[in-house]
Amino acid sequence: MPQRIRHYFDFRDTISFSDGLMLKGEAVIIPKSLRNEMKARLHKAHFGSDSMLGRARGTIFWPGMKSDIKQLADCCSICQESKPKNQNIPLMQHAEGSTPWQKIGLDLFELNGKHYLIAVDYFSSFIEIDLLTS
Ligand SMILES: [Zn+2]
Repeated sequence: MPQRIRHYFDFRDTISFSDGLMLKGEAVIIPKSLRNEMKARLHKAHFGSDSMLGRARGTIFWPGMKSDIKQLADCCSICQESKPKNQNIPLMQHAEGSTPWQKIGLDLFELNGKHYLIAVDYFSSFIEIDLLTS
């Protein structure tokens, strides 16, 4: 197999040709000669790699696109400054309570056009559902 098409081998089942464009699924396969221009367009707003990848995903494609875009954003000081500073807080398990109905969970839902309130007791897992009339 020629070296220049080897990167596409794993995607061969999803590649098609339409109106003069090579597609991977619905994404246009960008030739090497246009990749820098596509990266520059994606990078124009300096919103970082997640935003750039979000806009590129499903619309354009080239082998290694994800790492190319990430590298571009990682090397840009403006993108780094606009990167979200908050880190994800790990999920914490809450106490279930030591007696029934000490701690409950509430939610509203709609079923067949009627609205209901559901209450769940954390201690016993007892569920109560009430139809809301007003
Ligand atoms: Zn940037």
